This record gives sequence, structure tokens and C-alpha cells, in this order.
Amino acid sequence: MHILIIEDDLAIAANLYDFLESCGHNVDAAADGVTGLHLAVTQRFDGILLDIGLPGLSGLELCRKLRQKSQIDTPVLMLTARDTLEDKLAGFEYGADDYLVKPFALKEVEARLNALHKRHCGKVANRILEVDDLTFDPKTLSIIFVDQNVKLPPKCIRLLALMMSEPGRVFSRQELETEAWDDAQENSDTLRSHMYVLRRALAKAGGYDPIETIHGIGYCLISRVQA
Ligand code: CA
Repeated sequence: MHILIIEDDLAIAANLYDFLESCGHNVDAAADGVTGLHLAVTQRFDGILLDIGLPGLSGLELCRKLRQKSQIDTPVLMLTARDTLEDKLAGFEYGADDYLVKPFALKEVEARLNALHKRHCGKVANRILEVDDLTFDPKTLSIIFVDQNVKLPPKCIRLLALMMSEPGRVFSRQELETEAWDDAQENSDTLRSHMYVLRRALAKAGGYDPIETIHGIGYCLISRVQA
């Protein structure tokens, strides 16, 4: 995992840094709230360890800005010396996912980060995708296009879900093959024929084909609202 530590107590930060690196994680650290927030919004992390008492911008404020202003839902594990119920509730209210009171065991920090990461991945994987007239529910595998139900074979569903995850982005043929196929035996003829089935089914249901062929590269799901 790529983990960000935001902690002004350098001894604690160094301990966390060394331990998490020794567990095989890729770790970045910031010693104040402003630097921490900047890192959190400009890079992609799998988890953030956030101290509440920070110079400049408090951990609570940082968390609120991250959630509300930047719309970033990276799991946040708050670390603090405070252990009153009010402080814990405030942490959750400001958007933290979990809470650890100092002093804590390093192994517990890692275990909680792993649990948060797993839960987050599950949430992302189960999120209903919506792009213009197209809706996909990963839990029921139902696809609605212009109010019509679309029935598709499993591989076509995987291709569509991948393109819906980033509308407007061009996916190369190789990317589509490796992401949507488990089987290395598949070749680009198979991709072409699955793409054909997918596009024909969508056009039949909704009256138009929302997928564009990018010649020599791959395919793109067109979105009126570009991501
Ligand atoms: Ca502190």
C-alpha cells in the first residue's frame, strides 16, 4: 500500500515510517497539516495516518477539507493522545474512518490500515457506476441504457465496467484485454468480437452506440460530462 503519515512528533513519525516500510509498504510523511493536505490531494494513497494535534492545520480540519472540498475518500486512521468520547465522535464527524489512541502498538496500526484498505476496495468495487444514460450495478450486474435493460455476456460486462470506471478515457486494446480477461489465451480478435456484441446490444437498447473506436489504439466510452 502507499501510505501517508501526517504527524508532527518526529519520533512517532519515524517509528511508523520504519515499521510500515519494513512491512513492505511505500510510505510518505509530512510533519504539518498544510504539507500533509497538499500531499493527500496531489498524490494517490491507499491509507492516511493522521495526527489530530498538528501545527498549521489540525488533523480534524485537514480531514474535513479532504472529504468536503477535495472529495477524496482515501481511508483515514486518526492517531491521537485524546481519548474522550467527544474527541472520537468529532474525528468520525470530520470524516475519519477509524481511530487509535496513543500509545498504540505498531502492529495494530498496520492491521487497521489493512482492514480499512480492504473495506475501501470493496466499497469502490460495489459502487454503482453511472455515465450519462448508462447505469451499471456491480452487485446485481444489471445494466440500464436509456431506461432499457441490457443483457450481456460476462466478458462484455467486464469490458463495459472498465470503460465506465473512467468515461472519456481511451483504453488501449491491451489494457482492455488484460483487465477484463483472466485468460491469457484470448487474442484481439476475441476482444473485437466482444466489443461488437457489446456495442450492438447497447445501440439496440438505447438507439445509439456510446463507445467510440480510436483507430490504432483502442476504445473509449464517450461521456457528455467529461471526467
Ligand atoms: Ca501532534
